[in-house]
Amino acid sequence: MLPVLVVHGGAGQIPKEQSEASTSGVCSAARAGYAILRGGGSSMDAVVEAVSQMENNPSFNAGCGSVLNVKGEVEMDAIVMDGKTLGSGAVSAVRNIANPVQLARLVMDKTSHSCLTAEGANQFARAMGVPEIPPESLITEYSRMRWKKNLAPDANPVECQMGKMGTVGAVAVDSEGNVACATSTGGMLNKMEGRVGDTACIGSGGYADNQTGAVSPTGHGEAIMKITLARLILFHMEQGQSVEAACDLGLAYMKSRVGGLGGVVTVDPQGHWAANFSSRQMVWAAAQKDTLHYGLYTGEHFTQSIDSPQ
Ligand code: ASP
Repeated sequence: MLPVLVVHGGAGQIPKEQSEASTSGVCSAARAGYAILRGGGSSMDAVVEAVSQMENNPSFNAGCGSVLNVKGEVEMDAIVMDGKTLGSGAVSAVRNIANPVQLARLVMDKTSHSCLTAEGANQFARAMGVPEIPPESLITEYSRMRWKKNLAPDANPVECQMGKMGTVGAVAVDSEGNVACATSTGGMLNKMEGRVGDTACIGSGGYADNQTGAVSPTGHGEAIMKITLARLILFHMEQGQSVEAACDLGLAYMKSRVGGLGGVVTVDPQGHWAANFSSRQMVWAAAQKDTLHYGLYTGEHFTQSIDSPQ
């Protein structure tokens, strides 16, 4: 069953013309992360690699391709968590870094803190030698178009976002049974400047514990935070629920209690995994043994050989 890696490319409804790019984006990210696991690498290295790849892919709302805040600027959040040590690192509202997930990892590895925000996160990035890039280089034509559309007085950015695609994330278990998670996002469309979502918040936008498993969520951050979705799913697993059932219970509770939609990828230390969602779609891929699994709609599940030509 080990190792295993599962990624998502956001909950919502992916425009038809983008579904192929999103599907191939999650599949190649899963392959890249899984190659690290197959080479004996750690689950932390694998999830950071998979999420970095999706941050670099303009099809996703993370890194290049992030949605814009109300002022038309990029502000990104990211988190990592290591299930062996319960160490975690996060950044919020960072603007000119290509890979916020790598900066989150540096926060975990090189500081005694769990989260750095805005200018402080940028100062830390500078001190660590992380290259700064022009913030405009993270803005795509598509994200600018959606920003403009949602400035209209009758616009509903939350609904519009749930009708599109979102955040990226990954969970993994390595051959030693260590679990890890990573999540990265541009946040919610036309959010207020300085808004921090679930992604930077431990227990909401991610959680990993070798005693239970690892979760990376996506969806409406304010709803996810209200019910601490990642930790809630692990709680259900601690109570004896299967990975699948725990995901469904957490997502159903978020829907009934606060009207929130979203999705998750989850693993347990034995290598059971799930990619479940309450939104219309969530693009996901999972790599285990010789097989790559992937899908987009509920009930959809394609497979191919992990080594088949892409
Ligand atoms: N959870 C993210 C946020 O609220 C958005 C998403 O997953 O699409 O910042």
